[in-house]
Amino acid sequence: MEKNPEVIMSNATLKKSALVVSAHSADFVWRAGGAIALHHAQGYDVHVVCLSFGERGESAKLWRKGNMTEEKVKEARRAEANAAAEILGASIEFFDMGDYPLRADKEALFRLADVYRRVQPHVVLTHSLKDPYNYDHPLATHLAQEARIIAQAEGYRPGEPIVGAPPVYCFEPHQPEQCDWKPDVLLDITSVWDKKYQAIQCMAGQEHLWEYYTRVAQQRGVQAKRNVGITSSRDIIYGEGYQSIFPRVTEDLA
Ligand SMILES: [Zn+2]
Repeated sequence: MEKNPEVIMSNATLKKSALVVSAHSADFVWRAGGAIALHHAQGYDVHVVCLSFGERGESAKLWRKGNMTEEKVKEARRAEANAAAEILGASIEFFDMGDYPLRADKEALFRLADVYRRVQPHVVLTHSLKDPYNYDHPLATHLAQEARIIAQAEGYRPGEPIVGAPPVYCFEPHQPEQCDWKPDVLLDITSVWDKKYQAIQCMAGQEHLWEYYTRVAQQRGVQAKRNVGITSSRDIIYGEGYQSIFPRVTEDLA
């Protein structure tokens, strides 16, 4: 049966999408797993780019097993991240750029710009602008921002549809105060917390963080409830904090 091109076009226009740029293969789970599951539930296509597997810097438990190679660690991390993304409802790809240190050449930047062009994100989530404990994290933020700007440029691969100006939100770093990170958005993730915790449990190599990030979500949940007003009937238990980079454009301040 012949498809009606008008219907196909309107579906493509209506479908919203989100892009998550994660320095290492587990960051998107701790820091944005709730947002991913929530937007997936709302009908968004959510795509995650892991710039590295975190094979050197965030896989201590795997290395301590002994008899490990970098390839084996990367495969274990890839399997964990794939399983977590599936639970959260996101597609995922791995750039395998290496970690500790993460370094990017122009090709990596263009590869990420091409992801922007393909995904056409309505929102972008990535790391904080600073992190004195981890230089890979702000580098990922820098790449996410620079690729966004390249993807906006008419002169980059002329003729392709450019991207608009999707808002960029920095997700919560491990030690917010030292990273000059302060949330201006609190996302209620109570309805998808079970999905986030299932995804967290895929990260067998970092079991020490499971309960830590449960506490973080509870803290942000309490703060979200406080900020939504005591007259609200919303029963917020779990939250995620975000810091926006650009001003929000709105016609409604309430
Ligand atoms: Zn990381």
